[in-house]
Amino acid sequence: MKTLFCASEIYPYAKSGGLADVGYSLVKALGRHTKVQSVMPLYGFMPKEEFEKTDISFSINLGGLFYKVSIYEAFYDGIKTYFVDVPLLSATEEMYGDAKGDYANNDIRFALFCAAVVKLAQIINADIIHANDWHSALVPLMVRRAKLKIKTLFSIHNLAYQGIFERDSLARVGLEESYFHMDALEFYGRVNFLKAGIIYSDALTTVSPTYAKEIQTKEFGCGLEGLLQLYKAKLTGILNGIDESVFNPQNDAALLSCYSSETLAKKYENKKALQMEFGLSGLKKPLFVMISRLVHQKGFDLLIESLDAFLMEDVNFVLLANGDENYKKTLLPYTKKYKNFRFLCNGYDEPLSHRIYAAGDFLLMPSLYEPCGLNQMIAARYGTIPVVHRVGGLKDSVHERGGKCAHGIVMREASKKTLIGAVKRAIMLYNNNAKKEEMISFNMNCNFSFAKSALLYHKLYKKLLS
Ligand code: ADP
Repeated sequence: MKTLFCASEIYPYAKSGGLADVGYSLVKALGRHTKVQSVMPLYGFMPKEEFEKTDISFSINLGGLFYKVSIYEAFYDGIKTYFVDVPLLSATEEMYGDAKGDYANNDIRFALFCAAVVKLAQIINADIIHANDWHSALVPLMVRRAKLKIKTLFSIHNLAYQGIFERDSLARVGLEESYFHMDALEFYGRVNFLKAGIIYSDALTTVSPTYAKEIQTKEFGCGLEGLLQLYKAKLTGILNGIDESVFNPQNDAALLSCYSSETLAKKYENKKALQMEFGLSGLKKPLFVMISRLVHQKGFDLLIESLDAFLMEDVNFVLLANGDENYKKTLLPYTKKYKNFRFLCNGYDEPLSHRIYAAGDFLLMPSLYEPCGLNQMIAARYGTIPVVHRVGGLKDSVHERGGKCAHGIVMREASKKTLIGAVKRAIMLYNNNAKKEEMISFNMNCNFSFAKSALLYHKLYKKLLS
């Protein structure tokens, strides 16, 4: 059995969020059970000269135009990743868009990626293609349309991003007009790429059992709840994990002081260093941190609504978040108003994020919805207690009472009252040293690896071929 895993971003080559982490850690864990290789786009910002050019090249006909594709490869941690080098997709300096918004030709860019993945899968004799999110959602459709023997599994990491384009997109990506009906790609008069993944895949997964149920409801279904109910027989929710070697406070090169649950005093060194770096006083105060894309999903409206009350508590708060300019404009004045708040919004900074995970006492995650979420698992592993809204994967992975991993503070609803209530419970916990240390050490010793989930994916792969 040979599987080709395709995604628009894979760590360490390109990352904007959890999909990249999963693209690395799931594939690595799967590699213990089956032969699996990955493929992603070769974007303009990537160091092409550091990759090996393979002898695989071909051309793709998309909407009557021919595009020449070259395939590069690289190895990282024993995993072979292919890179698709093709005009338009590879020309850009960002993955999906720039300050002006999403690239206008994203439909063609990612349709080219999908067509190249399908061709590559044939060349390397893959039995299964595991596609992820809307960027590779046309893969199952293209496999079905060409009547290939390859099986497809499609994973939804975030239903809110669907790849919706105007009607003429269909012709631009070379698909027949017959796909423009509601049982195919049509979506309120436009074209929806994600629907292709849902409809034409042989198996469908999403990233937590709770999210698998939630997306079949009006509240979380983003307009696709009916379609997901229709295909629920092939839908499974499998909780993500993290790569425990990348996120390991015992040997993390980004940290000033590495530590384990046995040497928690050293974690405190990281708090001291971070607070000094950002000029935050009061080492005895609980340090709340948040590391997130700056988008509505992550609960920023709720955070802003609660921020005065939150910052008036005896706490420090460090927020590392990048994204929406409006949120930036709203949040920055609070750094002037409150001495106990730092807002770091100058882009994506992986080493800084590790230092913040290590320094924090509590990680705040008031997401309105959360397909799985990795932050809470990373935080728990770094002994930073998660404070989460009970939704999606957060509901499956953080518990305020009960034995399962991880333990933390859980908000039953997304409101200012519950957020401030959760902060107050966190402060109480912080002041109860014995209880706090027991929780930290329990969390640090939880198993967040991808091993269990990789087994479930492997089982699905085997089912597809049986
Ligand atoms: P999502 O995929 O919705 O963004 P996840 O919780 O699944 O959320 O994954 C987020 C990942 O991105 C985590 O590894 C987190 O540490 C990281 N991250 C988010 N924002 C930043 C940032 N500004 N700098 C560094 N890492 C970040």
